[in-house]
Amino acid sequence: MNLPELLIKSRKLEPNYGGVLGKCFVCGRETAKGHKTKDTVSSNFTKFSQLSSGDCSCPECHGLFSDQVYRRKSWLATTEGFLILDKNEKKKILYNLPEPPFFLHMAMIGQKQPWVECIHDVAFSMRSFYFSHENYGKVYFEKDKFYQYDALIKESLKYKIGKMQLKGEFFLKTWENAIKYNFEDLLKKIEKCKKNLLWEVCVDVN
Ligand SMILES: [Zn+2]
Repeated sequence: MNLPELLIKSRKLEPNYGGVLGKCFVCGRETAKGHKTKDTVSSNFTKFSQLSSGDCSCPECHGLFSDQVYRRKSWLATTEGFLILDKNEKKKILYNLPEPPFFLHMAMIGQKQPWVECIHDVAFSMRSFYFSHENYGKVYFEKDKFYQYDALIKESLKYKIGKMQLKGEFFLKTWENAIKYNFEDLLKKIEKCKKNLLWEVCVDVN
């Protein structure tokens, strides 16, 4: 199951059958019931390089770019339903994953469509999977790592180390405090996690 198929199922939509024969530029499948590319995306569409090479869109992929909800909102699609996530739910969702298959998208300002890179990345495991995030693009989730990061972040918050430092450089004062109060090891462990996309997401949701 690819992402367009999951979305059709989760939202209880019907595939949109057309009459064009060709290869879908979104999912890469051959179709005899497709639509012209120009009837699928607007002329300023820029994501072709991240998609399949093809000359039409298939019935499942046709509606993907015209429905603004996928771009504007954070959402979770499962075979059971389609959930739009508010800010608070978005923060909690990685701690409360649904039964696979599912796909998760986290929007920030609702302008980008990083799930375009994830057409073939529906999650079939709760332990490791890809999800899309407007700021970080395609992010690889590993449960063990996520909880390891989460514990480090929670510990760092006890020492009043702000998120800015968790994402960027520690202040000199923080290193001085770490020596004084014996949490240098924590800072060193955190240093190794920085620059990792899942770390960034984990800081955000804490
Ligand atoms: Zn398709």
